[in-house]
Amino acid sequence: MNLTKITAKIEKQSDKTEIFNDKVLKKCQKDCDALNADIGDYNKADGYNCDICKNKGFVFFPKSYSDKYNICSRECKCMNKRRMLRHLKKSGLDSNKILEELTFKKFIVKNLWQKI
Ligand SMILES: [Zn+2]
Repeated sequence: MNLTKITAKIEKQSDKTEIFNDKVLKKCQKDCDALNADIGDYNKADGYNCDICKNKGFVFFPKSYSDKYNICSRECKCMNKRRMLRHLKKSGLDSNKILEELTFKKFIVKNLWQKI
């Protein structure tokens, strides 16, 4: 076998691997999509709706390990907001109106010492 043939064979092989990987990735992505379509109920506790995780708090995605793809999950971005909402609720500042109303602009200065 000469070098050209060997190179051609290797290229063909890597094409096959790429097609295989692409198929595996598509299948894994499909599985992830199905899991991501599930609906959670975190919104019932904090009233916040997230379109990304559908209120589950985490998102599934395909991750490659050598020649395989596995389903992995990570925490959704909304979880930081949910934690904050929980803290606000605990502290009694959970109403959005309270946070909108209590601003420095609306703070009325009645005494000189309050200006300082
Ligand atoms: Zn989310």
